Amino acid sequence: MTSVSLKGVKKRYGSQVAVHETDLEIKSGEFLVFVGPSGCGKSTLLRMVSGLEEVSDGKILFDLEDMTFAPASKRGVAMVFQSYALYPHMTAEQNLSFGLRMTGHRKDEIERRVSRAVKMLRLENYLKRKPSQLSGGQCQRVAIGRALVQQPKIFLFDEPLSNLDAELRSSMRVEIAALHRELDNTMIYVTHDQIEAMTLADRIVVLNQGRIEQVGTPYEIYHKPANRFVAEFMGTPKITILSGILCCAESPHLLLDSGDKIRLPIAPYDVKADAAISIGIRPEDIALDDNSNLEFAIDFVEQVGASSNLFGNIGGHQIRVTASYGKNYQPGDRLRISFNPNKIHFFDEHGNAIRFDSAVRPKVETSKRDLSKFGS
Ligand code: ADP
Repeated sequence: MTSVSLKGVKKRYGSQVAVHETDLEIKSGEFLVFVGPSGCGKSTLLRMVSGLEEVSDGKILFDLEDMTFAPASKRGVAMVFQSYALYPHMTAEQNLSFGLRMTGHRKDEIERRVSRAVKMLRLENYLKRKPSQLSGGQCQRVAIGRALVQQPKIFLFDEPLSNLDAELRSSMRVEIAALHRELDNTMIYVTHDQIEAMTLADRIVVLNQGRIEQVGTPYEIYHKPANRFVAEFMGTPKITILSGILCCAESPHLLLDSGDKIRLPIAPYDVKADAAISIGIRPEDIALDDNSNLEFAIDFVEQVGASSNLFGNIGGHQIRVTASYGKNYQPGDRLRISFNPNKIHFFDEHGNAIRFDSAVRPKVETSKRDLSKFGS
């Protein structure tokens, strides 16, 4: 078990900065996932940990040992790639044992490690086949097995499931999670797929344009996003964001550009009245509510079995609602909705989350006297 510290790690390609100065502590035995849109620097960061890419600045420590300039082969890491990177002319079994043979391991030791990997990854029936005779999922299991036999201190995965179809991806996710439970090794995993990130990670690192936007557990990332970017990147369908001016007169409300008013259950204490803010509300936190004044027309419907995703707009802002019962909604239907007051996310004009101490959250029906606290 090994911890990893990144201290001021940076990567430049010529004049372009791929990874800005990054500090990150990865705990021993942790499953850490880097997630973010394509080009945000996930792979570069992972490759710097592996030693395949040099850092432009900063330090990388494994436990307390400085690994910044150690060659990849001396770091005790094993990497699994999206492309599998298997030797095409070798059988699965030869692919599994090749690295160990090259590093001069004894035959009985190689056999012991390979047979353990074969058992863990259920590869018994494929050992004599070459990669061209294996499915994508089987190839990826061989690639994971090849990492496993190295008995690395740290496993590094670079989008390992991206080439697989949806069903295989979900079953391989389960296998990788089981592998982590069994081995308890430190694992760092890169993906652009937020479902993979949410389901596999102990903690998620959300990256954007070479910078960390937030580090947190899947729960924190989803329910307490640090900013609009994280809120919008995580979650399908996407969170609805409504922007406008916060008005505190009478009952607090958000005045959208269109002039529509959205009554807010709270008025943020430390936000001045008339501040430009945004609110975010996830599709599952919007309820169909015949008593509400807030209405939208459905533009289109996505049927997903037990629930329907309804898309429409309020004041020009796209709104996404998950309706959990199976009514046959149609474009053009008009629906009244209300927001779960405890699930509204508030963002300031820069897109950063406005946090509240729950003790100071005013009640839904804020009186005029209370409102004086918000300033004018
Ligand atoms: P991600 O894995 O998040 O898709 P990468 O880490 O591969 O992103 O890339 C981050 C940025 O660095 C991108 O803008 C990419 O074009 C750039 N980049 C990556 N590798 C190189 C390279 N070898 N030379 C120049 N630019 C690169």
